[in-house]
Parts: sequence; C-alpha cells; structure tokens
Amino acid sequence: MTTGLSSSTIDSLPDGSGDGLWQACIDQLAQELPEQQFNTWIKPLVANVANDFSKVVVWVGNRFKLDWVRAQYAGRISHILQQMYGQPILLELAITPKENLVKPRSVPFIQEIEALPESFVGIEENTPSGPRTRLNTALTFDNLVEGSANRMARAAATHVATMPGQLYNPLFIYGGVGLGKTHLMHAVGNRLLEERPEAKVLYIHAEQFVSDVVKAYQRKTFDEFKDRYHSLDLLLIDDVQFFANKERTQEEFFNAFEALLAKKSHIVMTSDTYPKGLTDIHERLVSRFDAGLTVAIEPPELEMRVAILISKARHEGAEMPEEVAFFVAKNVRSNVRELEGALRKILAYSRFNQKEISIQLARDALRDLLSIQNRQISVENIQKTVADYYKIKVADMYSKKRPASIARPRQIAMYLAKELTQKSLPEIGELFGGRDHTTVLHAVRKISAERQQLSELNQQLHVLEQTLKG
Ligand code: ADP
Ligand code: MG
Repeated sequence: MTTGLSSSTIDSLPDGSGDGLWQACIDQLAQELPEQQFNTWIKPLVANVANDFSKVVVWVGNRFKLDWVRAQYAGRISHILQQMYGQPILLELAITPKENLVKPRSVPFIQEIEALPESFVGIEENTPSGPRTRLNTALTFDNLVEGSANRMARAAATHVATMPGQLYNPLFIYGGVGLGKTHLMHAVGNRLLEERPEAKVLYIHAEQFVSDVVKAYQRKTFDEFKDRYHSLDLLLIDDVQFFANKERTQEEFFNAFEALLAKKSHIVMTSDTYPKGLTDIHERLVSRFDAGLTVAIEPPELEMRVAILISKARHEGAEMPEEVAFFVAKNVRSNVRELEGALRKILAYSRFNQKEISIQLARDALRDLLSIQNRQISVENIQKTVADYYKIKVADMYSKKRPASIARPRQIAMYLAKELTQKSLPEIGELFGGRDHTTVLHAVRKISAERQQLSELNQQLHVLEQTLKG
C-alpha cells in the first residue's frame, strides 16, 4: 500500500475500491498529523464508501468523539477525499450502533467516559489499569503545569504519590471548577502505580460512590462493597460536596475512611470548597476531612495561563508563539478548561486555513468568545472581585456558611451577578454552590432595597461595579 497519494483520479487508487479510497485518505492523514493525534482520533474510525462514491459515512464510537472529529478533522477529511477522487464526496459522521462495533479498528467504549474530564490528550488511551482503577492514564504530573496557583497542592500530591500512607492523610484539595483538581488526583494514582504496579488504587467520583452504595443496598452486597473499598491502598474520591444529604453514603464513606486510615492507606479528596464550608455533611466526617492536610488550588495567574497554553499547544504538535499565548491568556481568564477550549479553536482554525498561529489568527478564531467576553462580565469574575474586596475566600461564595461576614458579601455578589450578567436566577444559584433560585431572589431584593438606604453600601457597590466593568 503506497502512502501519500497525490494523484487525483480514482484509477490511480490502490485498488479503485471504496475501501481503497478510505485507506488512502487515512494514510494521508497519518502523514499530516502528529502520531498521538492520529492514533487517538483517526485510526479508530471506520468508514463505508457508497458504491457510486457519492458519499462516505464515517462511524465514530460516541457523541464526544463525534463532536471532536467533526470539529477538528471533518473539513480536512472531506478535502482529502475530494482531492483523491477528483469530485466532491459527501461526508457523513455517525455514531456506531453498539451491535455493529467493528472489532479490529474500534476502541473499547469506556463507560466512565462521562466521569472523566474532557482531557485534551487522548481520553480513550485509558489502558491496562483503566477499567480496574478508573484512572485516566493521560492525566499525569508531567503534563500538569506548575505555578503559584497549584504549587502547594501539587507538592503535597507528589509527596502522597511517592510515600502514601505517611504524611498528609487525608489530603483534601479544594478549588473552583476547571482548575485541575481531577487532573491532580489522576496524577497521584498514575504516579503511585508507576512505582508500585501492584498497589490497589481506585479513582471514583463522589456521585459514583453514591450509586455504588445504592446498588450495594438494593442487592444486599455490602460485604463485597466493603471488601472492595476497604482493601485499597489509595482511594481518590472526587467532588465530595456531592455527599451532601446522602446519609447512608456518608455512613459507608465514614466506615471506609476509618478502615483505610487504620491500615495506613491513603485517601485523597477534592471538593469545591474547604471542609468547614461544606454543608449537609456530618460533622464527624467534616472534622476527619480536615485532619490531614487541606490545600487550595487557585485560579492560574497570567504567566501560568501562558505556560499552560504553550505546553498544551506543544503537546498537540503546534508551536504557539509567546506573544500569542499572552494575548489569549489575557483574554481568557476564568479557568484552565476555558483556556483549553480557546486553544482548540485556534489550532483547528490554523489547520483548516493552513495559516501560522499569530495574534491576528487567534483574534479571528476567538472572535465570538472575545466579543462575548468584552461585553459580558462573568459570574466567576464577580465572585472573585467581591471576595477580594471584602477579604473573604472565593470558596465561601460556594460554601454554605452563614456568618454575616460571609453571607453578606455572598449576597452582594449574587446581586451583582443578576445586575451585570444575563444569567437567570437558577443559573446564578447553581454557580453559588448549587443554591435555590429563591435564595438568589432574596439576596437580590435585599441588597437592592438596602442600597437605597445605606449610602456606604451604595458607595461600595459603585466601586465594585466600576472594577468589574473595567
Ligand atoms: P477540576 O477537576 O478542578 O474541575 P480538571 O482537573 O478537570 O478541573 O481540569 C480541567 C482541564 O484543565 C483538564 O483538561 C486538565 O487537564 C486541565 N488542567 C487544569 N490545570 C492544569 C495545569 N496546571 N496544567 C495543565 N492542564 C491543566
Ligand atoms: Mg473535577
């Protein structure tokens, strides 16, 4: 089979068949794309070419991959097909029906895919240890950029990965969305397994733990449940705020916790707020969460955002000039997940248009995003600004704590969110630690009424509004 066909007629294709056409297209992409990208996204694709070459249907494993392949590669695939065949060919992408999964080329469908972050690097490369440990092997310390925002958390996590069961047990990591908490947990698990492949490690999202408890309860299999959890060397449990109000789960988790600590197994937890900021979780659990080491991950500062962009671009086989990275980092400020989204757009834009990455290209690629950002103020930004102003923690915007010194700034932030963004009351409630819309409504009414009467408050709100509108 020859590669890199340049001829444009069907006659010159290896066997003149539909399969031949598709194979030639694949070979062409193999040459164009970095190997890791090719192996992750293109190689597993299966295609049917219509007998009359009018159309090519490409089967993709699931919705996530479909969106990705469509955004990143569909244009290029169409183009290559057309070039090789000499006439336009309709390209259709479809999700593989489960019974049709074609064995050799398809990648196993991973149930946990929803639970995994949309990692930039091959989410499907979840391998040997994958199903058993639920670890995503693509999330490591090596590709977790260090900066002052995550230095403490990263150092503690590295320590735990190399010497589990000793210091910092449990390790409790908290911070807002998209800041790398889940990534850090997987990194701990992957590192430990590198050094001790026989170690029993489990990564689990708190919601999955809840559902495991429910299943054990329904099937009366608590013994197995206990065997499984209590025998671990390292338990990584993500987003424990989801334990709120789940009585039975909290009890089982408490038991597992005690059993694991007693045998010097390590426990790493994450949450959107610090232990005492959690609500509807039993005091005895909260105090145990806090008994080891509690560290925050902060939103990354400018230089760190730049470093993350450059490193992720490189990982994707592209060079992002520093000035472009600065431009993007200045404009995309909220979290790493958003940075990844921006980078993805820029890379796709650059590939499709076959243009080098420049500030102008970034501006074009991110046009929608930038114009929205310029007009709109984000709720995250309001939370951070208000928290700084009143000298409370950003995490308290999500916590359920009620002392006035915290509750009031939180209400002010809700009021500003309603006033300065397009978000609805329920949406705002969601962004403030999953509060009810009536709580937000109450805050909005209260602050706007008080604003009329208290000139000091009015003055503070003016300052905040000016700061936010920049
Ligand atoms: P969280 O669990 O805090 O919501 P995630 O761990 O899911 O956040 O991170 C969101 C995305 O950002 C992931 O793709 C992750 O790999 C990436 N990410 C976060 N922090 C960093 C970092 N410091 N360096 C590189 N990638 C990061
Ligand atoms: Mg997470």
